[in-house]
Amino acid sequence: MLFINGLTSFATALLFLGFWRVTDYQKRPESLLYWSAAYGLLTIGFLLLSSNIFGLVVPRVNLVGNLTIDAGMALSLVATNRMLDRPTRENWPIALAGCIAIGEVAYALLLPVRGEGVLLLMGITIRGTLTTAIGIALWRHAEHVHRAPARMAATFHFVWAAMLALRTAPMLLGVRSLPTMEMIVALALIARLLLTWTIGICLLWMIARQLNERLIQYATRDMLTDLSNRRVMWEAGTQRIAAQDRDGADVALILLDIDHFKQVNDRWGHPAGDVVLATVANRIRAAVRPGDLVGRVGGEEFMILLAPTSPVSAIDIAERVRSAVERTPFVLADGREIRCTISVGCSQTGAGRTCWEKLIAQADAALYAAKDGGRNRVVDHAVLAEAA
Ligand code: GH3
Ligand code: MG
Ligand code: MG
Repeated sequence: MLFINGLTSFATALLFLGFWRVTDYQKRPESLLYWSAAYGLLTIGFLLLSSNIFGLVVPRVNLVGNLTIDAGMALSLVATNRMLDRPTRENWPIALAGCIAIGEVAYALLLPVRGEGVLLLMGITIRGTLTTAIGIALWRHAEHVHRAPARMAATFHFVWAAMLALRTAPMLLGVRSLPTMEMIVALALIARLLLTWTIGICLLWMIARQLNERLIQYATRDMLTDLSNRRVMWEAGTQRIAAQDRDGADVALILLDIDHFKQVNDRWGHPAGDVVLATVANRIRAAVRPGDLVGRVGGEEFMILLAPTSPVSAIDIAERVRSAVERTPFVLADGREIRCTISVGCSQTGAGRTCWEKLIAQADAALYAAKDGGRNRVVDHAVLAEAA
């Protein structure tokens, strides 16, 4: 069982090394190297403990083998905290375990009559402390996207810690039955084997979830402004219209376009134009409420889809953004100031059925009317239609 644990740890160490080599988009990739090194140490430890089956005689093999495994667990804690982006001070259980390890070595080397029981207790305290610390860190501190796999990995750490604790039971209860003790040792080794198998799977699962989240981010967000992209706005809009058919809640839309933006680029440069775009995005974000959806739907065009329950009218929000853009100049990194304005078109579904494309076309018509009317103004399609 010790030998199989050694082989499984070796396979897991290679697996982590493989993850590290191939995952370009992994956050904190160095944590995978720490995991790999940790399982490398576990491999050495388990192989040392099982060296007698090959007829090898290693001096003080139990002490050296167990301390190597403990060092592997200490490194696993470092890897866990790195992966979870926790500060170095969170590795404090290693200091505690290190002190006990020094006591263990001193006890084994200096005292002529050694009690195996005391050594076992010290060894289990070291390993149990480190394993429980890893379990708690994984359980409590994984970010939302990693929670399920992290908690599964944590559970297997707790199971192993519990099995280690169980190993002390015969000694504490004074049970001397050899079969019972052997069974408990076997159970602890099986639990360790399960932990080694599952940790690789859980980490792979975490990496997959992280990549998935990144893909969703790429597919739905605009890189420059971190607003929703056109696809998200179109999907949300179509859904709102479908919901309106069921519950009758009006859908309100605002289209915003920066005035003479080409001149901004021509005069101040493209990077300055980018600063203006990002700042306009922030000003729109500041003007809306949490349920409203804001997107960048073209080069210098933005869209707000109001929440069905919005107590503020589209025109009020549009006016708020327009005046915020007009009032405060955009400041570049070198202190230069750019003045800009925006034109805005609003439309909303009223009585009768309006499809999403029609709602967009109406907001667009209102926006063009705002441009025609001299720019830096808000036009509501309902008013436009009335005038026509
Ligand atoms: P109008 O008032 O009629 O809207 O005039 P405009 O100049 O704003 O409109 P036009 O469509 O002629 O020009 C839009 C400009 O937006 C042209 C393009 O270079 C610029 N643009 C589009 N995307 C980006 C971007 O990501 N960054 C920067 N800096 N400029 C962009
Ligand atoms: Mg435009
Ligand atoms: Mg424009």
